[in-house]
Amino acid sequence: MLGINALEVNYQHLRALRGVSLKVEKSDLTALIGSNGSGKTTLLNAVSGLVPRSSGTITWEGRDITNLMPDAICRLGIVQVPEGRKLFPKMTVQENLEMGAYLPEARAKSVQTIRRVFDLFPRLAERRNQASGLLSGGEQQMLALGRSLMSCPRLLMLDEPSLGLAPIVASEIFRIVSDLNRDGLTVLLVSQEVLYTLSISKYAYLLESGKITLAGPAAALVEDPRVKSSYLGI
Ligand code: ATP
Repeated sequence: MLGINALEVNYQHLRALRGVSLKVEKSDLTALIGSNGSGKTTLLNAVSGLVPRSSGTITWEGRDITNLMPDAICRLGIVQVPEGRKLFPKMTVQENLEMGAYLPEARAKSVQTIRRVFDLFPRLAERRNQASGLLSGGEQQMLALGRSLMSCPRLLMLDEPSLGLAPIVASEIFRIVSDLNRDGLTVLLVSQEVLYTLSISKYAYLLESGKITLAGPAAALVEDPRVKSSYLGI
């Protein structure tokens, strides 16, 4: 569905991505793991068209989208939930959700989709008239996820959805992501919570200093000695 081929991204003299190739298959939950500064966010931003790509190609359902603008990429159904959630803190939960349905096709289905989001996240339904800035960290992450669902994504790219959350809340977020995938949503999940991430993913890539150094079924990566010692503390 999504193909990244020999992608290079440079920030002035820094080579943030060095010939990265990666595939996301339809209906799969694919993970991208790696430590701080390895280039994970840069990769998502490159797919979304938010950073200039120096070379390489990005394809979507066989079509070259490397040079599309972010709005055109979003219209294809490729939706990124950024690290840090980027909500509108003074707007209510409901208003934040409605902001997610800005494309005409999504707007037409917004009443239905909001109902589905409230079913998935009953806590958001209870707080629908509350300013989003007053929500807990976990609720804000749920709202960011809910807002992205409002745009009816075909590929959801999640950047560190559990960052800064207590372990019990983080595990709830991972469970919800896993449920969404089981319902058919294709997901590219970026996370440093390696064990949780690999436990819900089908295929995974390890990114180190801008390069993919390991790729394979998630179940095999969990058993890899390098992943065990560097990322699982075993
Ligand atoms: P983290 O998990 O800490 O966010 P990451 O794996 O997502 O890390 P990136 O944020 O993609 O990594 O950063 C990759 C490298 O590129 C880092 O060395 C970072 O300092 C650098 N970098 C990221 N954005 C920019 C930018 N806009 N200008 C210059 N350098 C940048």
